Amino acid sequence: MKIRMNDNYRLLEKNYLFSEVARRVACYREAHPEARVLRLSVGDVTLPLPTVVTRAMAAAVEEMASEETFRGYAPEAGYDFLLEAIRSYYLRFGVELATSEIFASDGAKSDVANLSELFGQNLVAIPDPVYPVYLDSNRMLGREVVFVPATEENDYLPGPVALEDALGHAVEGAIIYLCSPNNPTGAVYGRAGLAAWVDFARATGSLIIFDSAYEAFITGDFPHSIFEIEGAEECAIEVASLSKTAGFTGTRCSWTVVPEGLEAEGLSLNEMWLRRQTTKFNGVPYVVQRGAEAALSDEGIAECRELVAYYRENAQIIASTLEERGVAFTGGTQSPYLWLTCPGGLGSWEFFDLLLEKAQVVGTPGAGFGSFGEGHFRLTSFGSRETTIEACERLRCIL
Ligand code: PLP
Repeated sequence: MKIRMNDNYRLLEKNYLFSEVARRVACYREAHPEARVLRLSVGDVTLPLPTVVTRAMAAAVEEMASEETFRGYAPEAGYDFLLEAIRSYYLRFGVELATSEIFASDGAKSDVANLSELFGQNLVAIPDPVYPVYLDSNRMLGREVVFVPATEENDYLPGPVALEDALGHAVEGAIIYLCSPNNPTGAVYGRAGLAAWVDFARATGSLIIFDSAYEAFITGDFPHSIFEIEGAEECAIEVASLSKTAGFTGTRCSWTVVPEGLEAEGLSLNEMWLRRQTTKFNGVPYVVQRGAEAALSDEGIAECRELVAYYRENAQIIASTLEERGVAFTGGTQSPYLWLTCPGGLGSWEFFDLLLEKAQVVGTPGAGFGSFGEGHFRLTSFGSRETTIEACERLRCIL
């Protein structure tokens, strides 16, 4: 063919992190068909959907079977009933939103990646380590990226000074990604930490893209939403998801909050995102939106808390195994992830291969989340209790 290609793709790692993990596991399985491989790797949930959700979805399926109640294309930003449910959910954190600021979607992954379409060539600041989609989606568009190190020294919670240090000069008009609770480190920003970012963004004319995918795992007095911080509505967009909160990884429902007042170069970000979504997205299926509405009801939230409590107990089981074996780690309390330092100074892919070979346990190499993740490793608490216990027994033997 003689077509021109997007050269930015050449800058990407050959495989997306979790595809590479899956590829290595598949190779191992092929060579050892008898092995029972246990996964504490991809951040996918294992418990079924809350009953209140499946009931609501079953009722919605019935509606689709009748001519009077059948629904076709959904409104691109979501049905009013769901937008209202999301609005009420935020009121629990003391955040008042207008439904016009909420855009229901089929995943935080796609939203967080698609948002970069709205911007021109700005400096993009990405914590390191973090969810790889922020980097890859910006690389695909040829954006200049600065990595903000999240290390033991700053408790994995870098502030604006870390960004300025990494850049070596003052920041102006940057797009800053924040993920709290963080994937993979499990670190969560307190109010003061987030307020520092909000003040910085306002002072430098920057925009924060805040990913709160793991908000449901917060137990202490930490902000669940960046909009709990004064002034955030002037400088932040928030992406949230029911994937980890309500077990929606295979059902797909999320939302993005774009405050009405956000504006740059005479363009409203809210209007642009609406324009983008109405052009390129045809809405979350009706049945799923009814399920999401149910997940955000009082009954749904209570059931979701049970799911989260189950995963939290798994995290405790993993944490006590690591403590017992003297492996340094962080996370696992406000997030489903445990972030450990690879024992014996091993590199993270070396440790990945070792665990797979010796224990048939799969985790995620820290280096896949950024260069500051090298020498670290992520284990998830999203497995079944049985898998978690067995994996920990195996870890005990080899660590
Ligand atoms: N944001 C973070 C930080 C994640 O870790 C994930 C999934 O692992 C997502 C977003 C994706 O969420 P969704 O399933 O809604 O696309």
